[in-house]
Amino acid sequence: MNQVILYYSFTRIENIEHFCADHRRKCRALNLLGRIYIASEGINGTLAGRPEDILAYEDYLHSIPGFESTEFKDDYCESVPFVKLIVRIRPEIVVLRAKVKVDPVINKGKHLPPHQWRQLLESHEDVTLLDVRNGYESKIGHFEGAVIPSVENFYDFEDWLDRSRLDKSKKVLMYCTGGIRCEKFSLLMEQKGFKEVYQLRGGILNYKKQEGGAHFKGRCFVFDDRLSVPVDEKFQEVISHCEITGVLCDQYLNCANPDCNKLFICSLEGAKKYQGCCGLECMQSERRRPFDANNVYEPTRKMYTYSTREYETSRLNEKDIKYGYNVRPGIS
Ligand SMILES: [Zn+2]
Repeated sequence: MNQVILYYSFTRIENIEHFCADHRRKCRALNLLGRIYIASEGINGTLAGRPEDILAYEDYLHSIPGFESTEFKDDYCESVPFVKLIVRIRPEIVVLRAKVKVDPVINKGKHLPPHQWRQLLESHEDVTLLDVRNGYESKIGHFEGAVIPSVENFYDFEDWLDRSRLDKSKKVLMYCTGGIRCEKFSLLMEQKGFKEVYQLRGGILNYKKQEGGAHFKGRCFVFDDRLSVPVDEKFQEVISHCEITGVLCDQYLNCANPDCNKLFICSLEGAKKYQGCCGLECMQSERRRPFDANNVYEPTRKMYTYSTREYETSRLNEKDIKYGYNVRPGIS
């Protein structure tokens, strides 16, 4: 059995090159796979490996001054849901590109632990429950009654907020997958005049561990080969629909046209109709991957193997090269 962890820490890092190189060395020595983003504002990672190696990594991070109290969200899975290790320096560990100054290293938002979050939901107080994940993530699962912005990237959320007519005097409860996006977005909302902004500590994944699936419908999207995990282990309701046939479905597929690469919800019938593509136009692409009806939902990393073998690098999408495989760039 393998362990998967998700974590972040907004802690100022002085020498990021050095910090990054040390991290890469440590993860390689422990045979961990996954991806870590490092910036002067901190670290954001998701890793998988044997439980004893994961534990050694957690001890390592906790031993670095400033990172002693980093919280890890963990899960177990049969196979490692990453194909390689990426440790990379980024301008931000989660990309908001805020037009106002937002610095979670200095300012911390207001956290609600899962049990308090649940109590508030059950109090029926009139609040704005806000999902700050991308539209393609919230489709397959979200808290009941949440505002679900139809936004493709986290850095588009500020514009969305400016256009939205959310009541600034009303209490805001926001959540994301593992908590990191809320750390930035809650500060941004406060800057824009929202009076009371709270975030779910540790996100949906922490809530799942402590409160199970109460008030959450569907599954939780994750940025690795699993693509989604159940929130309620006992009752798994499907709330989304195949984007081609319209039947109830919560399986994601990457469009088989590498130039499109859209992540969309697709049933087996839908996949057969357009040969693994999101529509007719993509199906007619010369670069379309061959369709195998018996392995429709194979991890998308297979596509990368195919691409690098079959096409010269210059013909690959920039994002194919940058992220290694075709699940969208990881955030939590
Ligand atoms: Zn497509």
